[in-house]
Amino acid sequence: MTDKPNDISSTPSGDPWLLTPGPLTTSLSVKQAMLHDYGSRDATFIDLNARILERLVDIVHGQGTHVSVPLQGSGTFVVEAMIGNFVPADGKLLVLINGAYGKRIAKICDYYQRDYLVQESAEDVPVDTDQLDATLDANPDIGHVVVVHCETTSGILNPIAEVAQIVARHGRSLLIDSMSAFGALPLDAREIEFDAVVASSNKCLEGAPGMGFCVARETALERTEGNSPSLVLDLYDQWRAMQKNRQWRFTPPTHVLLAFDQALSEYEAEGGVAGRGGRYRANCDLLVDGMRAMGFKTLLPDELQAPIIITFHMPTNPEFDFDAFYDGLKDRGYVIYPGKLTVADSFRMGCIGRLGAEQIEGALDAVAQLLSQFGIDKIK
Ligand SMILES: *Cc1c(COP(=O)(O)O)cnc(C)c1O
Repeated sequence: MTDKPNDISSTPSGDPWLLTPGPLTTSLSVKQAMLHDYGSRDATFIDLNARILERLVDIVHGQGTHVSVPLQGSGTFVVEAMIGNFVPADGKLLVLINGAYGKRIAKICDYYQRDYLVQESAEDVPVDTDQLDATLDANPDIGHVVVVHCETTSGILNPIAEVAQIVARHGRSLLIDSMSAFGALPLDAREIEFDAVVASSNKCLEGAPGMGFCVARETALERTEGNSPSLVLDLYDQWRAMQKNRQWRFTPPTHVLLAFDQALSEYEAEGGVAGRGGRYRANCDLLVDGMRAMGFKTLLPDELQAPIIITFHMPTNPEFDFDAFYDGLKDRGYVIYPGKLTVADSFRMGCIGRLGAEQIEGALDAVAQLLSQFGIDKIK
């Protein structure tokens, strides 16, 4: 790593640390990588693109079976692209929902007029694999299943390996939204069978936001020709075009790609999934322990908690004013995130991005200061 996560200089602009689901804090060197203008046909830039696409396949050990296709836009763009490309007009998709991102996929199906069935559980309950098995038994017309790896709404980890096993046993195709987990939680294509996984340049890979990508099984991607209802989101067309001339079809986000290449080097230097996931796990444990010591309660039991973002119940002390809490933390250099849950009044604190123990400890100190300012000595 060119700068340590504990180095305050990684926010030289004086920006607060982002304890959010994204966009996230990036390293100074990732930001500095963007200080260049490249033409889209520049040979150096074209090589850099090829290198990025290869490394993305490597992260899931998809060499020889999977290929990666990049796409401009935020994460949702590539989620939408995956649905539009892989689920044909006469297909049917099973959407496994336990949060806002699963619901968003159902909404995409509505826009695209794709037939779908929903299997929904509460935001604090993982996807039910027995029910999945039964649903696939009862519905032979379902060709594809989509699951969210870590549902960022609550921070819950879905049982991706079991889901993949069941879907494979039924001979259906699995699509994964691993936006908030890719690169930090293991996803090995040699063990977990999937036809497509999507994620983005920001989140756990710690690049700048602005592009997504799909790592797809080549034989499955080959069959998606003509499926996409959208030109700009046509992954098949993007893939074929890049095979021909190694260039993006439309203006590439050059700065985002420069940052992403640097971010991937830092990712590899940190030790890939084990190193990155290990730091996030340490961040998560430190944060949860520290918040619990002050009396805060997590929504999820530890065994369901992914080391990505943690949902805390909103204290019910009348002195606790969330807006003042949020603003007070921001003033002290830490941005948190309001909750989006229907099951509980809550707020969230992320532990991903260029953050280490020093930042988590700093955030905990800031929380303690605010509680004392509110005159709260015991969280209710
Ligand atoms: C962040 C995220 C997305 C994409 O969100 P954008 O705001 O479009 O980048 C999709 N799914 C999950 C699970 C996410 O965490």
